[in-house]
Amino acid sequence: MQDMSAALRTPGMLMLGGGSPAIIDAAVDIFQHALQKVVEDKQLFINTVCQYSDSAGDVQFRETLADYLNQKQGWNLTRDNILITSGSQSAFKMLFEYFTKGRRKIVFPLLPDYIGYGILPDEDMLGIPGELELIGQDSFRYNISARLEVNLDDVGALCISRPCNPTGGMLSDLELIRLLELAEQRGLNLILDNAYGQPLPNIVFGKHSLPWADNAIYCLSLSKLGLPGVRTGIVIGNTRLITTLAELNARQALAPGSLGPAMASVLIQNGDLDKLLDEIIKPWHISRKDQVIEFMQRHFAEQTIRYHEVDGGFFNWIYCENTKISGHELYEKFKTNRVVVVPGYAFAPGLKHDWPHLQQCFRLSTGQPLDIVERGIATISRVLQTVV
Ligand code: PLP
Repeated sequence: MQDMSAALRTPGMLMLGGGSPAIIDAAVDIFQHALQKVVEDKQLFINTVCQYSDSAGDVQFRETLADYLNQKQGWNLTRDNILITSGSQSAFKMLFEYFTKGRRKIVFPLLPDYIGYGILPDEDMLGIPGELELIGQDSFRYNISARLEVNLDDVGALCISRPCNPTGGMLSDLELIRLLELAEQRGLNLILDNAYGQPLPNIVFGKHSLPWADNAIYCLSLSKLGLPGVRTGIVIGNTRLITTLAELNARQALAPGSLGPAMASVLIQNGDLDKLLDEIIKPWHISRKDQVIEFMQRHFAEQTIRYHEVDGGFFNWIYCENTKISGHELYEKFKTNRVVVVPGYAFAPGLKHDWPHLQQCFRLSTGQPLDIVERGIATISRVLQTVV
């Protein structure tokens, strides 16, 4: 992370490494408008910045959000199913620590998965490498390995991102239901990280749904909607769990911040959230995904490279099976040529054995201005020609 921040400060560096959401002008206008409303309405301003919220997060926001989600998803939530945290990263820390009490582990059922899950001591995590499925000439995806089922002793919870950061793949509805059922049979919770997914920011390209289950914990965030600076995470789960987490929230931070919830309440109430999701964010990302695929097909035409199928999010995951150097050497070579990516081996929380495949993978972020993304991909292509 520090290495990447230093690279970002280097003039001329093509930054395809970060996880920041794209700055979309029409979305920024909507956010400014929502913030203005919070500032101009004196009572709302007082509630938002002059008072502590409830330890589970602003009550009015949780009610508004519960109604919104019930209507969108057909769920039956009340505010007591919802907890607000200071960003979803802090929610993961709280959840992982809670579920690893009593020497239990968090299992990541489908590696590669999000770098930020690697926050526990090694012995408290277990990551199961996915099984590669090669598709056509230049695609692939990972499937959950049968080894998952025999690795569920002494486990506290399962956790997976959907869409996945880094691969952009999504568990199908059937895979999700199977995973929820497997977890239920073993008395486990499934933490589903929807930072890029449903119901918001809904950077999801195909048809997927999100069924309710009593053992599911859905983690959402306002960050990839375009508001990482307000640090707002949302945990949705059964009321017993949410009550316990609210106590932990109180101990850790008294109460979460209220600015993100206040802005999100305004967006829900004036209908701007739906406009943002359906008319701005999703079309922007669909168009960007298509452009990036076109860049890759053009610049990588002469190379033996596979890309993970993209079901959502704003990353591309590249697998170059013929590279002769390590993932770190490749990363350094890219950097010397002024392009930054994230090396594949970083996305392996709880991995217990060497998985050489990850040395041949890396992640591109595609939210930067288009000319930067294209120049980055062209540079990557030139570097790859020198290492196969
Ligand atoms: N989950 C995933 C998959 C992410 O990529 C990120 C951030 O990049 C987070 C969670 C954390 O997001 P935040 O703490 O900003 O809500």
